[in-house]
Amino acid sequence: MKANNISSEFNRVLSEKIKFIQQNAQKRKSIYGEEQLKRPVSFWTKNDRLKNEIGKEFTIILRTKGCNWALGEWGGCSMCGYFLDANFEDVPATHLINQFDYAFNDKINALKQDNNNYILKIFNSGSFLDENEIPKEVRKYIYNKILKVAKIKEFVIESRIEHITSEKLEELREFFDSKYIEIAIGLETVNDYVRSNYINKGFLFKDFKDTLKRCKEYGIGVKVYLLFKPLFMNEHAAIDDCVRSIKTLIELSVNSISINPMNIQKGTLTEYLWFQNRYRPPWFYSLFKCLKKSLTQKNLINVRVLSDPSGAGTKRGIHNCLKRDCENSAKEILKSFVLSQNLSILDQKGYECTCKKKYNLQKVFY
Ligand code: SF4
Ligand SMILES: [Zn+2]
Repeated sequence: MKANNISSEFNRVLSEKIKFIQQNAQKRKSIYGEEQLKRPVSFWTKNDRLKNEIGKEFTIILRTKGCNWALGEWGGCSMCGYFLDANFEDVPATHLINQFDYAFNDKINALKQDNNNYILKIFNSGSFLDENEIPKEVRKYIYNKILKVAKIKEFVIESRIEHITSEKLEELREFFDSKYIEIAIGLETVNDYVRSNYINKGFLFKDFKDTLKRCKEYGIGVKVYLLFKPLFMNEHAAIDDCVRSIKTLIELSVNSISINPMNIQKGTLTEYLWFQNRYRPPWFYSLFKCLKKSLTQKNLINVRVLSDPSGAGTKRGIHNCLKRDCENSAKEILKSFVLSQNLSILDQKGYECTCKKKYNLQKVFY
């Protein structure tokens, strides 16, 4: 079966269920007025891991028409509720430029005066390189603004692979000859069965490998998102799947791996099953186990491993027992590991909670 020129396999039952739940959620979705379309969804700065140092991230989330995969006939990915932030109709180029300028102008002076170097991330809960979301003139406007800011050393965008064409890579290369560029791709797992039947991602691992090769030809870095504990997996299977994915991606020399532990987003199949007690987000214990099992300190010289989980320490995000000391300690350990890229931090004792026993008993069932 074919979708957007990408060879793929679909699970029709999964896709229809996702679409049904999504359509119900859409009925309760807000309609965005003109003033809202001139403002980004959100933007912030905070500490982050740059390629070779600790620095800061400046993230801007733009509101666009929405991800073509989520809006299309196959209904999007089983864990993704980003369509609720989308406008569904085209957002005019002038509004998109306003959104960017609003965030950029708000932070640019502080950024220039800061001693830290920055990584700028522009996300749009879809694909930055999809012309239907971000037209060419907007892309070029944004590129021109960024390249003049010396403090921004790295620039990251997200895209599904069908939009990562040679033409768009060449355009990026032409603009940014001195900045490091990374395209973040939601591969989620190297396992095609899991990606097609549990996630509904709509492309195969071989398609990703072709895209990776193309990015390398243009000197553009690739960051891979891995979904930690997709639906229908217990903790044990989630660890195995993610360990295999990390090891494979290291062999392929991807530049960064960002592990996204599942968080329960509104209007998704994941939320539907979670409400029925048929899914639990992963435990921190599992994530730490996975990182220790899949990485060596030597690996981390060439690959950056990131994880900034949404909803961490809450019932909708990765969590242990929800006791504040237990969650804060786990979050702190993860943050320190990501900033330092030092694996030994994962062996730190932290808060020793009684929930570890419960976890060890449950992990194969839940
Ligand atoms: S996860 Fe990405 S590709 Fe999947 S529906 Fe959401 S925005 Fe689209
Ligand atoms: Zn605990």
